[in-house]
Amino acid sequence: MDKPHITLIGMGLIGSSIGHALKRVDLAAHITGYARSAETREKALNIGFVDSIADSLKGAVADADIVFLNVPVGMIAEIVRDMAPSLKPGAIVTDVGSVKKSVMDAVHEHLTENTTFVPAHPIAGTELSGPEAGFAELFDNRWCILTPDSETDKQAVQTISDLWRAMGSDVEIMDADHHDLVLAITSHVPHLIAFNIVGTAADLEAVTQSEVIKYSAGGFRDFTRIAASDPVMWRDVFMNNGEAVLEMLARFSEDLTSLQRAIRWKDGEALEKLFSRTRDIRRSIIEAGQDTDDVNFGRTESPHKTD
Ligand code: NAP
Repeated sequence: MDKPHITLIGMGLIGSSIGHALKRVDLAAHITGYARSAETREKALNIGFVDSIADSLKGAVADADIVFLNVPVGMIAEIVRDMAPSLKPGAIVTDVGSVKKSVMDAVHEHLTENTTFVPAHPIAGTELSGPEAGFAELFDNRWCILTPDSETDKQAVQTISDLWRAMGSDVEIMDADHHDLVLAITSHVPHLIAFNIVGTAADLEAVTQSEVIKYSAGGFRDFTRIAASDPVMWRDVFMNNGEAVLEMLARFSEDLTSLQRAIRWKDGEALEKLFSRTRDIRRSIIEAGQDTDDVNFGRTESPHKTD
């Protein structure tokens, strides 16, 4: 394919980062942007990670060779239904949703025969949202998981893999159900725990909210960072990956119960054994280049000692 015309539907953290990353390597003949609000569209054009904006979904996709759907998972079905009749024959549609099986089912219901859907999920992000949050390096050395099924056109999978590699990612192909299970434990349940612990702390009657904020040492602070993630995006993740999340939560609850038991019976050996195993996992993540071993995750500001 010559340099493609690429359209970004949704220009928040992920959509804007894709725009910046595509521009960094000059991969697109033209980048068109579309988002729900005129405000986001204007901002995107001013920041400059798109070449033009469209004021309708249909207008945005009409000339596109590749359409990236960068919207919350729960919006994808409706958007594909509305844009499908306006797609060019042969266009490739891809997404970045954090859940894959439900998205694939929804898209296949609406997409016409002469277009291909390549499901994708970049394992990269921050807790920030909106068009100003994106940056070109977001995907560097991060994984992007593609979950095509046996029907997905192989050439289209290759095209999208090449794009992600050019944007800095390593690409892995995986079955959609397996993706949803793996991400349930590596991302969705950890976010749920963060939402829960921050909510619990905020509700505690014996500890005032101001104390929670004033004495928020590293452990709690790191949870609040995760718990500040976009509410709509995360609502949609749990609405669309409930089964896998509940399966992983059942395992998590069993393990939590055995930790409770170890504390109750003063089984220091069991606690130390687990904490040593978990420290090893952290080391493996750093060795795999997926995080920094700098103190305080490389943050420069350090108002309080971490714990
Ligand atoms: P975000 O910053 O909140 O941006 C969402 C974008 O979608 C906004 O530009 C919004 O437009 C647009 N949008 C929402 N509904 C729309 C509609 N009906 N029609 C057109 N545009 C619509 O979200 P994000 O963090 O980039 O997440 C986007 C997707 O990436 C989600 O599916 C998420 O699961 C996935 N993902 C996120 C992360 C992460 O860490 N954040 C990581 C990997 C994958 P307005 O600004 O006009 O409202």
